[in-house]
Amino acid sequence: MSQTLLKVSGLKVAYGGIQAVKGVDFEVHEGELVTLIGSNGAGKTTTMKAITGLLALNAGDIQYLGRSIRGRGPWDLVKEGLAMVPEGRGVFTRMTITENLQMGAHIRSGDKAGVAQDMERVFATFPRLKERRDQLAGTMSGGEQQMLAMGRALMSRPKVLLMDEPSMGLSPIMVDKIFEVVREVHDQGVTVLLVEQNASRALEIADRGYVMESGVISMSGEARDMLTDPKVRAAYLGE
Ligand code: ATP
Repeated sequence: MSQTLLKVSGLKVAYGGIQAVKGVDFEVHEGELVTLIGSNGAGKTTTMKAITGLLALNAGDIQYLGRSIRGRGPWDLVKEGLAMVPEGRGVFTRMTITENLQMGAHIRSGDKAGVAQDMERVFATFPRLKERRDQLAGTMSGGEQQMLAMGRALMSRPKVLLMDEPSMGLSPIMVDKIFEVVREVHDQGVTVLLVEQNASRALEIADRGYVMESGVISMSGEARDMLTDPKVRAAYLGE
């Protein structure tokens, strides 16, 4: 089996006295596209934030490349290849598209040629960003900002890309485009952990899936099996 890149074990995270994540275990192997699905408030975003060092753990451990990353900060983890596209995108609205992409590569300031090459690759994946390279990010549509957030994360040359609800709030055409691009990025060799409320679309492109419910993992399996599982279909695919 391929290498385990990310291993979450016994993860618990609380906000004050409220336990949002109550003991979660899952793994992501090299080259996989894994999705974490589940309804509103299930604890998916909290789990992602704990992995990327934005929230402290109450219990459990997170291993990346075989070593614990508990207590390490987001910048430090990006340098090691763990990049996140946050919920709500978080682009720098008063900077241009090109400047946003350059910010994504800030950890690689010594590698000008490589950065320029990656910028061209991002522009090839997202022609819309190329057309608007000098436009301020804040003046772009939600879908365009989502593409920019993904492009910016790719500029750090991640091994693992964590994405939190990339399809949220987008028009159906944009949702199609975003899922297509997630698949494309994965096909280029990036391991992906995708949090989505759009369970059927996420399972269609994923290798494996985990369902999160009230702070715990309630189901897991091969994505294609989950898509046809009557329990998953009834609870999460609107049937
Ligand atoms: P969504 O799809 O709505 O983002 P989610 O599965 O990502 O849902 P979380 O955002 O992780 O869920 O929330 C898990 C629980 O933690 C919820 O009950 C939520 O109200 C609570 N929670 C999230 N953020 C905070 C916070 N900053 N302070 C207090 N409670 C919070």
